[in-house]
Amino acid sequence: MHKMAPLALLLSAGLLAAGCNSDNNSNTSTPTVATPKNVIFFLGDGMGITTLTASRIYAVGEEGNLTIDTLPETAFIKTYSHDSQVTDSAPSMSAYMTGVKSNNGVISMDGDANQLADCSKSAGKPVTTLLELAKAKGMGTGVVTTTRVTHATPAATYAHICNRDLETDIAAQLVPGGAGFNSALGSGVDVVLGGGTKQFLPKANAGSRTDGRNLITELQAKGYTYASTLNELIAADNSKPLLGLFNGSHLSYDLDRLNGKAPTEPALADMTAKAIDMLSQKEKGFFLMVEGGRIDHALHDTNAKRALQDTVAFDNAIKVAIDKMRVKDPDLKNTLIVVTADHDHTLVLNGYAQRTGKTTSNQAGVLGVVKNYGGSNIGQPTLDADGAPYSIIGFGNGSNRVDGPRNAIDDAISSADDYRQEVVFNVGAPGSETHGGTDVFLGAIGYDADSFHGVLENTAVFNKLKTAAGL
Ligand SMILES: [Zn+2]
Repeated sequence: MHKMAPLALLLSAGLLAAGCNSDNNSNTSTPTVATPKNVIFFLGDGMGITTLTASRIYAVGEEGNLTIDTLPETAFIKTYSHDSQVTDSAPSMSAYMTGVKSNNGVISMDGDANQLADCSKSAGKPVTTLLELAKAKGMGTGVVTTTRVTHATPAATYAHICNRDLETDIAAQLVPGGAGFNSALGSGVDVVLGGGTKQFLPKANAGSRTDGRNLITELQAKGYTYASTLNELIAADNSKPLLGLFNGSHLSYDLDRLNGKAPTEPALADMTAKAIDMLSQKEKGFFLMVEGGRIDHALHDTNAKRALQDTVAFDNAIKVAIDKMRVKDPDLKNTLIVVTADHDHTLVLNGYAQRTGKTTSNQAGVLGVVKNYGGSNIGQPTLDADGAPYSIIGFGNGSNRVDGPRNAIDDAISSADDYRQEVVFNVGAPGSETHGGTDVFLGAIGYDADSFHGVLENTAVFNKLKTAAGL
C-alpha cells in the first residue's frame, strides 16, 4: 500500500468507504474515517403486541398511528430466557445488551449464573454489554427509565450481578472509583435518569443502603451534576455527566403525573430530550437506552388504563427522539433508533367489539365494555352467557376473578383510573399477574434499520445493534 500513488490510494479508499455503506458526511481528505454512529434503543417493559394495539386505540383510535406504528422496518422477537419459556426483564434485556441468554433474575451474566441471595455462591461470568463497548470506544452513553435506575432493565446495560433484586449493589456499580464499581464503565455512564434515590442513600438519610455510603454525593464528587426535579433536569449543564433521580422509588405512572400528582417529576419524553441534548454533542457518537418501565407494573396490576397511558408516554419519547435526531441528522444516516419490548403480558382484547375510537374524558373507548357492532342491538353491550356485559380488555391471570355469575359492569366502571380488569386465573394478590411468553414487536428507523426483519432471537438484536454502532 505504501508504494501506491496518492490518486490510486484516494480512489481505493473512496471505493472502500462506499463499499462499507459509509455516508457522505466524510470529506474527501479523510475518506476512510467512518462517521460516528448514534444508537438509541427503546424498550417498552412488558409492551406486548396486544398492549400496543390497545394503546393505539386508546390514544388515536383504530385508524390512527402511534409513532411506533410509523417505524419503517419491523421484526418479531423470540423472548424465552436461558431457563424459562417466559422471561423476566433481567435476562431479556441482558440478551439484547450482551447477545447471551441469561437465566431468569440474572443481570448480564452467562447461562451458568443463577439468581441466588448470595451471588458469591453463584457460578457464571459477566458478559460485556453494548454500553460497555460504546464506553470503551469513547462514545457517549446514557440510561433513561421511568423505573428505579437500578431496576432490571436499566441495570442490564451497565451492571453484572446474579440477582436483580440486589439493587443497592447494582447502584454501587455506577460509581467510578467506589467499592463495587464496574470498571468496564471507565469514567462512568454519562447520563443516568430515572427514579430510585433509596438505592443511592444510606439508611440515615432515608435510603436503603446498609453500608453508610451516599452514592449521590460520591457521584457529585466525581463531577456529576445531580438533578432531583424537572426544573433541575432542564437547567443541568449539558457538558457534564448527569445523574437525575426524581423519586425515592419508581417515577409515578404517567396517568398520575398528568393528573398533577407528581408536579416535580419529568415525563419520559423530557428525560429523553435532555439525554439526547447532552449525548449528541459527543464527537464519537453515542449509545442511549430509554425504557418505558412502568407499562409492565400497571399490567402486573391488571390496571389497563395506567398501562396504556404509560405506553403513550413511551411513544411520546420515541417521537421526541426521532424529531431531535432529525435536526442533527435529517435523514438519520448516522442514527439508528430501535424500539422493542422485553416480553409480553396476558392482556387480551375480547369479543367482537364495535369500533370505539379513542378514549376521551366522556368516551371509554377500548377501556369500555364490548358492544354489538351490528344487529338489532347495535351499540348495546354484548352479554356473556349469564347475561352480564364484559370489558373489551381482560387478562389471562391476575387477582380480579369473579367466581360464579359476574355482576353487570359498564363503561364507567371498566374505564375508571383504578379499575383492575377481570382475569381467567386468580394467581393471588393484586400485582401478581404474570408475563406472557409470546413474541414481541420490534420497529426500527434510520441507519442500518433494514437489517431488522423476520423472526429474530433477542440475542440477534445485540449483534445488529453492535454492528450498527461500529462496535
Ligand atoms: Zn414484569
